[in-house]
Amino acid sequence: MALDADSIARSFAERGLRLTRQRRAVVDAVAAAGASLSALQVFDAARERCPELGLTTVYRTLEVLSEIGAVRRVHGPDHCEAFVPAGAVHGHTVVCSSCGRATEFTQCDMHAVVDAAARQTGYEITEHFLQLSGICAACNAAAGAPGPSGKGAG
Ligand SMILES: [Zn+2]
Ligand SMILES: [Zn+2]
Repeated sequence: MALDADSIARSFAERGLRLTRQRRAVVDAVAAAGASLSALQVFDAARERCPELGLTTVYRTLEVLSEIGAVRRVHGPDHCEAFVPAGAVHGHTVVCSSCGRATEFTQCDMHAVVDAAARQTGYEITEHFLQLSGICAACNAAAGAPGPSGKGAG
């Protein structure tokens, strides 16, 4: 996760919020997951650590974590909103559309696209979000699917 517990606690404090046991359980649940989690899945995982946790707290905590850059919103495998921990550097998330595994991708070169968008719209582009979906190596191997070169001409 991009931010350590101290930085997260500080960011919460700046918003007048304490990093309570409940909120910390939400942070831990997202950090521990190897896959994108929907808010409900975060709720289930975090409740194992903190049974008195409420769903409203989960939503509010994910909202704040997203604002401070500790988690990133993605579209999960079922096209529902899901959350993954965000890395320290600018990056994007590749989500497996089969199992939901989320992997960070940091070598993003969007300059050509951003420049073209700026030219076409006259906007000064300040930020971009990019979501990549696919089938992870494990799912590919499990399915015994041929690689991208396996398609014949036709
Ligand atoms: Zn997969
Ligand atoms: Zn990027």
